[in-house]
Amino acid sequence: MDFQLNEEQRMFQDLVHDFVAREVKPRARDTDEKGEFNWPAVRKMGPLGLLGLEVPEEYGGAGVDPVSAAIAIEELGWGCGSTALAIAAHNTLALGPIVKYGTEQQKQRWLPALAGGHGQLACLGLTEPGAGSDLQGGVRTNAVIEGDSWIIDGSKMWLTNASISDVMVLLCRTDRNPGSRSLSQIIVPSDSPGISIGPPEKKMGLKGSPTHAVTFDEVRVPLENLVGEEGRGLHQTLTTLDAGRIGIGALAVGLAQSAFEEAIKYSKERETFGKPIAQHQAVQWMLADAATEIQAARLMVYWTAWLKMEKRSYTKSAAMAKLFATEVSERVCRNAIQVHGGYGYSSEFPVERIYRDTRLMTIGEGTSEIQRLVIARHILTEVN
Ligand SMILES: Cc1cc2nc3c(=O)[nH]c(=O)nc-3n(C[C@H](O)[C@H](O)[C@H](O)COP(=O)(O)OP(=O)(O)OC[C@H]3O[C@@H](n4cnc5c(N)ncnc54)[C@H](O)[C@@H]3O)c2cc1C
Repeated sequence: MDFQLNEEQRMFQDLVHDFVAREVKPRARDTDEKGEFNWPAVRKMGPLGLLGLEVPEEYGGAGVDPVSAAIAIEELGWGCGSTALAIAAHNTLALGPIVKYGTEQQKQRWLPALAGGHGQLACLGLTEPGAGSDLQGGVRTNAVIEGDSWIIDGSKMWLTNASISDVMVLLCRTDRNPGSRSLSQIIVPSDSPGISIGPPEKKMGLKGSPTHAVTFDEVRVPLENLVGEEGRGLHQTLTTLDAGRIGIGALAVGLAQSAFEEAIKYSKERETFGKPIAQHQAVQWMLADAATEIQAARLMVYWTAWLKMEKRSYTKSAAMAKLFATEVSERVCRNAIQVHGGYGYSSEFPVERIYRDTRLMTIGEGTSEIQRLVIARHILTEVN
């Protein structure tokens, strides 16, 4: 059993950490306050491989292993929740299905521009006004065949990156029966006629990560834009979400680490009753709990990424890692504010923003309740 990162992973971690410390973290407050996407940093990410983490090099990606990919998202989360969410969604949710299920022709057509140095982004559209946790029963966006095209009608909600993406991967109903083989994934260029992108959602946090509702009115794309098999969209989406959950777990660990570091720093500076608050046992306990929980969460995320790297089944582990890491992050960020006292409630200190940002992590890419459902299903079938 070897718990050490290999040389390549360590070097990649250092590279990403330095980049984030220089280009992402210093702008995190501005990104949040102005609600502006950090394009200046994202445009520099292509050459570092951050826009095509697990995309094979032959298609212009970095081709890093899943542990390195998780580390990259964790580092981005440490720097800025908004930027990290956009990059995680681009990599795991949107590029993931093209890499895993796309035809050779689709990979050659779409991946080099999206994964390389062109600064193009993509998004994945699953959620709808009536479909979030229950995609199978809820998805109403239809795609029907007319000649050599799919005609897509419907609306999606909460699409991360929608307004800054060149390409959308959509989960559409291709069979009116509600069964598990009624949905398919289809690639849709964002400039297709008939697409309307709504205004940015007004959110509690992650304000520099654009989120939009999108409507599709007789949007026509070639039949060859079907990803994978017709009718296998739900299965492909659930597999995509397994990988996405490693990313969200990693992002949550990064956010927690950042809040923890702020709490340590503040606890050494602030004095009450004649000594730094770090010397009060109650504060030490919050810090000790945070350190312990972050370590456990990180190990679960890395372990799941390792399972993926070894091509072993990781659905249950991904649900556990996402559930644990995101709930740990919420506790750690909550207590980081506590350590700051009144100042923690002020936007002058980063912990206020990080707390707002991490709140999404127990909701997006499957709520905590859905993770528990996935875990319970697995353990109940394993032990029968
Ligand atoms: C900032 C942000 C970014 C997002 N980005 C994207 C994106 O890029 N692409 C995309 O497609 N979607 C995206 N989403 C949507 C997100 O994935 C969904 O909000 C999430 O999956 C939950 O779905 P819902 O909101 O419809 O909640 P619902 O499914 O309506 O759930 C409501 C509540 O009921 C609970 N619940 C539901 N079913 C069960 C059950 N069977 N057992 C127990 N409890 C249950 C849930 O856990 C939750 O507490 C984003 C959302 C946000 C807020």
